Amino acid sequence: MQDRQLYQQILGITSPWSVERVELALKAGEVRVFLTHASDASWCCPECGRECPVHDHQPERVWRHLDTCQYQTLLCASLPRADCPEHGVKVVRVPWAEPHSRFTALFERLVIDWLHEASQSAVAAQMELSWHEVHGIMDRAVQRGLARRQAEPIVHLGVDEKAFRKGHRYVTIVNDLNRGRVVYVAADRKQKSLDGFWGQLTASQLAQVEVVAMDMWEPYEQSVRDYLPDPAQKIVYDKYHVASHLGEAVDRVRRAENKALQAKGDGRLVGTKYDWLRHPDNFAADQWRDFAGLRNSNLKTARAWALKEQAMVMWDYRYEGPARKHFDWWYRWATHSRLKPMIEKAKMLASRLPNILTYLKHRVTNAASESINSKIQWVKYTARGFRNFDNFVTAIYFHCGKLDLTPLPTK
Ligand SMILES: [Zn+2]
Repeated sequence: MQDRQLYQQILGITSPWSVERVELALKAGEVRVFLTHASDASWCCPECGRECPVHDHQPERVWRHLDTCQYQTLLCASLPRADCPEHGVKVVRVPWAEPHSRFTALFERLVIDWLHEASQSAVAAQMELSWHEVHGIMDRAVQRGLARRQAEPIVHLGVDEKAFRKGHRYVTIVNDLNRGRVVYVAADRKQKSLDGFWGQLTASQLAQVEVVAMDMWEPYEQSVRDYLPDPAQKIVYDKYHVASHLGEAVDRVRRAENKALQAKGDGRLVGTKYDWLRHPDNFAADQWRDFAGLRNSNLKTARAWALKEQAMVMWDYRYEGPARKHFDWWYRWATHSRLKPMIEKAKMLASRLPNILTYLKHRVTNAASESINSKIQWVKYTARGFRNFDNFVTAIYFHCGKLDLTPLPTK
């Protein structure tokens, strides 16, 4: 029959497998391709590769393959079970699919490629897949990618937390800052969230870690102290996290002052929130000029803002001595500012100063994490409607792990 040979060719079915028959169900919009194997074929144990006698055959199974024209194409076969003297009775491997998948490897690969371009719900609708099927394909891809990872040195690490839903559950995310990829995701932001990561590293990987950039967050610090030698030299409080702490204090000052001003009919601070939080480099020249009136004013908010900007100068120093001097000068100014939020942050920074200054030695920030973060925002966005927690974790690895996700048998 022509169609048997045709399908054998286009599906890439090779010996000992062959196409036995093809059934076209027009109404259901399906093509069913039934596969069979030579009766004298030899089979191998999937564990050890040893050639083994056949024990029996499994009931017929079905794999979804790439569509033929507009028809869903299904491969059907009854798989032999090999009887290995060492591993017992095991289902043999097939060249068109990975074990336990109900899709062929080529189909999974197409879904994986589409998931890089479109949201999970768009892919599900387009490929006529359910939520669970899309999640299953992503999850298998991630498991495969994680298993293929080599134990490479991760010299600069960034630890970050992300809210799964605003203000709800958190995940801890560990980034390889040099390769710009997520290497670990765990639930919560507790010490044990990070502890789990160290356990995955080899002894030599542990010894090669030079920097852990993070927010000032005691549970993470404790984890680093418990697992890494010489932790005091390795913890670097991330510049962007410090900036965001100070920004939050500036915003508290602005909110209170805005309220007081508005009560007197003064609307100068209305709608200015993001001007105070934006990095000066991110203003266009004309915006910066427009902002001059406010930032040079005698408003409390302007003083808080100046304090924040002066604190950030510390990261421009080359050596620890002058940086410490700058901090002492700044600390005196901040603690005499009569701005409570700024005084609080100044005290916090003073108590954490040694691990802020470690930056000067390593020059590492979580900047690489920023591009990962924007990707994670995309993940959150494209996973809408698929938002359970496990799916979120899987999607982070899938999109930000730089993993080799391809299913191996691609014939
Ligand atoms: Zn075996």
